[in-house]
Amino acid sequence: MFSLADKVALVTGGSRGIGRAVSVALAESGAKVLVNYAGNEAAAAETLELVRAAGSDGAICRFDVADHAQVDEAVPRLAKEHGGLHILVNNAGIALDQILLRVKPEELERTMAVNVGGALWCSKAAIRLMMRQRYGRIVNLSSVVGEAGNPGQAVYSASKAGLIGLTKTLAREYASRGVTVNAVAPGFIETDMTADLPDKVKEDAIAHTPLGRMGSPRDIAAAVLYLASDEAGFVTGQVIGVNGGMHV
Ligand code: NAD
Repeated sequence: MFSLADKVALVTGGSRGIGRAVSVALAESGAKVLVNYAGNEAAAAETLELVRAAGSDGAICRFDVADHAQVDEAVPRLAKEHGGLHILVNNAGIALDQILLRVKPEELERTMAVNVGGALWCSKAAIRLMMRQRYGRIVNLSSVVGEAGNPGQAVYSASKAGLIGLTKTLAREYASRGVTVNAVAPGFIETDMTADLPDKVKEDAIAHTPLGRMGSPRDIAAAVLYLASDEAGFVTGQVIGVNGGMHV
């Protein structure tokens, strides 16, 4: 439905889960996809194979989104090698399931550094290029818990709420340069991140989801694809909830 021919997209944490589904959806619409990964090269290569099977091309690129020196080196180099950078999907993230009273300083620091810092450094590097192109689409992966809170996820939900503030601020800062910045806030999605949760937690989450099921990575990819498209050119600073009605 959407054409992303001639567009180059960078998907952080693209080796599995939602990042993989987003990479494939962007490729199906014709974008060249740069699949970032933190450590699992084989999984990133598998995503690239799926990108190629979807009829497009791309590359895999290893960097830690929380490390601004690595991001500052990689993002402009990738844009130079692959013909610009039009779409950035800040998907890389880590969960921290811990009540406030048990949170350790290093857990707070790492979760914020990856979930908020990663999106911030990647956006900074990308926006430098996008401003020159006078075109850019940034999509941040927030979460329903960033909107509604969730007992046991004080730090994670703070990080995902932080992404909403970042989204709205960057939307206002770079609208005049042709760059839109939006967020998708998934509900409870079937990926490795949720795979090990106890059955009781999963049952409760589904019970609180009016549509009565967990979401799939494809459900999230469809919303990201829309926000990455030319058709979403009048949408910026928004948070699209894809949560089965869990938060309305
Ligand atoms: P996942 O754990 O399967 O995938 C996350 C990816 O991010 C992994 O490939 C991981 O290697 C990568 N990553 C982590 N730290 C990184 C770093 N420092 N640098 C580069 N890559 C890094 O999780 P997922 O479920 O696919 O989640 C994707 C995004 O969606 C995350 O931001 C997550 O918080 C968000 N989200 C997920 C759910 C859910 O229910 N699964 C719900 C709401 C939001």
